[in-house]
Amino acid sequence: MHIDSTCVKEFPVNITTAPHILPIYATSSFCFENIDQGIEIFNNIESGNTYSRYSNPTVDAVAQKIAMLEAHGSDLQADAIMTSSGMSAISTLVMGVLRAGDAILTQENLYGGTTELFRGLFEPLGITTIFMDLGNLQAVEDAFRKNPNIRLLYFETPSNPTLACLPIRELAAIAARFEALSCIDNTFATPYLQQPLLLGVDLSIHSTTKFLNGHGNSIAGAIVAKDKNLLRKKIWNAMKLVGTNCSPFEAWLTHNGLKTLAVRMERHCYNAQTIADHLENHPKVAQVNYPGLTTHPDHTIARAQMSQYGAMLSFELKGGFDAGVAFMNKLRFCTLAPTLGDTDTLVLHPASSSHLRVAPEVRLRNGISDGLIRLSVGIENVQDIIADLENAF
Ligand SMILES: *Cc1c(COP(=O)(O)O)cnc(C)c1O
Repeated sequence: MHIDSTCVKEFPVNITTAPHILPIYATSSFCFENIDQGIEIFNNIESGNTYSRYSNPTVDAVAQKIAMLEAHGSDLQADAIMTSSGMSAISTLVMGVLRAGDAILTQENLYGGTTELFRGLFEPLGITTIFMDLGNLQAVEDAFRKNPNIRLLYFETPSNPTLACLPIRELAAIAARFEALSCIDNTFATPYLQQPLLLGVDLSIHSTTKFLNGHGNSIAGAIVAKDKNLLRKKIWNAMKLVGTNCSPFEAWLTHNGLKTLAVRMERHCYNAQTIADHLENHPKVAQVNYPGLTTHPDHTIARAQMSQYGAMLSFELKGGFDAGVAFMNKLRFCTLAPTLGDTDTLVLHPASSSHLRVAPEVRLRNGISDGLIRLSVGIENVQDIIADLENAF
């Protein structure tokens, strides 16, 4: 034993009992026993870690848990990698599976960053994006037939800000018929409420920043795949070369959050449904958008593919823009923040914040009216949330 070595295996410490809590492997590289082992690991003959941009035990443990959640209750052997953010999960995926000349078919009401990524970054690189109403299955099929360059069908359900839902099984089947990949952003629902891979989707991506971590203290993402080969060869290769790997500390925080995913989601859903019911016939509210309401236009679609309806809802104040601003300023208990998925209730008035600089006609086309308020309902006592909303009305 060389106690002057910097390799942890050589330290004179007693590691005969395993830690109960996943350790954070804060190391950039891993040591080889000898050069032969190094060669075997680099050539994938022997499994092992070499460098944390390629793989890291903390990050991989959390990725495997997310893969197991997506496949829970089935025989599917899903595989996953974690990335540095939800956005890098999306960009890594596109860089891994598409080439210049390929096209993406998607919807208009995507997460804002995703639209900007597709338009502003991939379009100039020769990967074009076609935006259309993916709820029109005949039109989706026609688009595939007309344009053989469409190699990726990318969608979100439920989506911002009206919680519109798309039929997962049907969309995945169309993509498969045209031998294109399908990918869903499953951030809003989480695998606890919706398991798209079991409905035929090839890839499920997450901003784990939101509900999977749930505590608002980390930024990370995940890519979950049905096809281990596609993930390990193409997508992992893009992650390794672009350097979009997740930090072990962020993965560890996500791991802590995952332990309470089920209890948090149960409470999120109960609270959101209670608030949606409360607001539905409220004199100050023109409309409530929550897939758990039987009056929501996509309630039937949501019921067919979700076990419950999630924490996200939005509603339309009768007084328009001014009513929206006044409402936001009167909130005391809920937090004004441009994120979602935390244990605390988070409120957003898109017209005066995230979408202030978006042209009114574009806002309206995507359902973002001047009096629209978006809630990411937390896990507090629901009566406290309702009391705060009532006070602000
Ligand atoms: C937040 C979010 C993203 C981006 O995730 P980051 O972790 O912030 O990079 C992507 N999709 C959806 C639906 C989101 O809510």
